[in-house]
Amino acid sequence: MQDPQAAPDWLDRFGATMNPGLARVLRFMGLDEVEVTGSGAELIDHAGRRFLDCSGGYGVFLHGYRHPRLVEAARRQLDQLAMSSRVLLNPRTIELAELLAEVAPGDLQYSFFTNSGTESVEAALKFARAATGRSRFISTWGAFHGKSMGALAVSGRALYQDPFRPLIGDVTHVAYGSLEELASTLADDVAAVILEPIQGEGGVIVPPPGYLAGARRLTEQHGALLIADEVQTGLGRTGDLFAVNHEHVVPDLLCLSKALSGGIVPVGAVIGRPGVWEFFSEAPLIHTSTFGGNPLATAVAAEAIRVVREEDLVGQARAKGAWLLPALQEVARRYPTVLREVRGRGLMIGMETATAGVGGALMSELFHRGVVAVYTYNNERVLRLLPPLVIRPDQLEQVVERLDQAARAVAAMHLEEVGHAAR
Ligand code: PLP
Repeated sequence: MQDPQAAPDWLDRFGATMNPGLARVLRFMGLDEVEVTGSGAELIDHAGRRFLDCSGGYGVFLHGYRHPRLVEAARRQLDQLAMSSRVLLNPRTIELAELLAEVAPGDLQYSFFTNSGTESVEAALKFARAATGRSRFISTWGAFHGKSMGALAVSGRALYQDPFRPLIGDVTHVAYGSLEELASTLADDVAAVILEPIQGEGGVIVPPPGYLAGARRLTEQHGALLIADEVQTGLGRTGDLFAVNHEHVVPDLLCLSKALSGGIVPVGAVIGRPGVWEFFSEAPLIHTSTFGGNPLATAVAAEAIRVVREEDLVGQARAKGAWLLPALQEVARRYPTVLREVRGRGLMIGMETATAGVGGALMSELFHRGVVAVYTYNNERVLRLLPPLVIRPDQLEQVVERLDQAARAVAAMHLEEVGHAAR
């Protein structure tokens, strides 16, 4: 019998039953590989080819693929109770909430559990409205907070928003990184300012020092809340457990998802300060989710936090990022027609290409050399590198070496094009 995973027509079947447009794009890019398994920083396809996964499932695989402790935590919980009755309390859910209260910045204490990043943002927006009695939000251009209607409204890219106008709510966008714009836009009718501590999908934009602390001060002056969307940055990726910690900022609400799953079971969370949570006392069921906080997901998520601590993944992100960033910047200096800038913090790195057209070619050259790196959603000129924090030093060296080869190949194509144009 034919091995179903090796069937040659997965892309056709994907196009026929899921997304014909995306199938066309993938075919054009020559991306018809099928994933089968993974281990550590490696993703393995149907033909047994190994890829160094530098997009890390867009930030999900902080712990690497199939971390043994997380697989075991899932197995244990599956044998006991995967989903909750939602009538009786579940200890796994409470344990995760306790752990989050312990590790979260400042007095962030209460958790509401969701199943994805966009749901965490949705919940945070509702909680901010309930807590303040106000309805206006301030967000930033280039922000990415998810694609459900509320999260989409506070995201900052017309491409994803325009087909759905009018969007929900009263949202004002300001330039990311500018405290002046924030100060001149904030007023006493604003429920919350929502920010990513580092914009991920906007192209890995690290704000100027003092930005988050300044935003915190300004929101306090106006009685507005600060929502930190740490869906991509949370749990150690940037070299601190939370990226707001770099500026010792305690937001009123903090959104998590992606890495909290341990790469095993989807989960998300919003953590809030006691004052924000008061509305739950009057209406305990005002916001609910059937699957949110299910014991399977929360058992794995709690173990995922313990692994981050016990394996010092935060320290690993810091040390590996400190080696990788300058090494990539050195490659960029050698190929200025391909790479304009490499920036980031910890193991959250963006490589901005010299021209819009070059990104696809670089991505494809990297892929054919066994390195997975993909665009950021809101900035096609930036390839993101979000490798698992457990990536080994020798694997990081391979990433740099293959990037050098890929950039050289793309630079040669570029020279050829310039030559053709001149003839
Ligand atoms: N917020 C941020 C900062 C994100 O990076 C993302 C996803 O990339 C989301 C929210 C949305 O998460 P999800 O795709 O799980 O809905």
